[in-house]
Amino acid sequence: MKKGELFIVATPIGNLQDISFRAIQILKEVDLILCEDTRVTRKLLNNYEINNSLASFNAQSEIKKIPGIIRQLLSGKTIALVSDAGTPTISDPGVRLINEAIKNDIKITGIPGPNAAILALSISGLPTDSFVFEGFLPQKKGRQKKLKYLADENRTVILYESTYRIEKLLNELNEYMPERYIVVHRELTKKFEETWRGLPQDILKQLPDKTIKGEFVILLSPILWKQ
Ligand code: SAM
Repeated sequence: MKKGELFIVATPIGNLQDISFRAIQILKEVDLILCEDTRVTRKLLNNYEINNSLASFNAQSEIKKIPGIIRQLLSGKTIALVSDAGTPTISDPGVRLINEAIKNDIKITGIPGPNAAILALSISGLPTDSFVFEGFLPQKKGRQKKLKYLADENRTVILYESTYRIEKLLNELNEYMPERYIVVHRELTKKFEETWRGLPQDILKQLPDKTIKGEFVILLSPILWKQ
């Protein structure tokens, strides 16, 4: 029996129009779409009149669901994996599934598209020839150690942060690297998209609300970089 295929499909990070023709076509054609939150992905599918089967696949259910998904792929089914936003596996689930698919010699095809880190980097004005993606900093254990380590980094550093934690992170950056020029992008591609540039303390002063809501990408300039 011919094996199926696993498609890793990037979807928008805010603006629903940021999706490729190929992504839409694949999402229409596959036998099943795996997604983190069926409500989020259903909204996207409805917008493009895609009426396909959805099954949830998230950080909590990932390990439990992999054997069944692999069985379906081995029996010839085509399956797409999407995230709530952006490129699957980038600070999102999917790496374990991909590795199981590799072990079972199942074809994996990526459908490229939005990613908050690369979009933020591309408009930051910071060096792009060499950069490091750190995603979310550890919440507790290892956080200070990581911040100390990043204080000496001579490549552009990309961090993710979610709602309500931005002020805490900026205060920490102000403590560990007060002289570092940073760029903060909020709500990329969305209605309330905003960017702040400067030293951590400057940005702290500019933030309109102390518990500012939204999704953030924070970029640290290389330690030796001058604008
Ligand atoms: N897979 C996604 C990607 O390709 O960018 C990232 C998923 S991760 C769980 C979610 C984090 O990505 C958010 O907390 C935020 O740091 C960042 N992010 C996602 N969408 C964003 C947006 N529209 N603007 C700014 N940051 C965003």
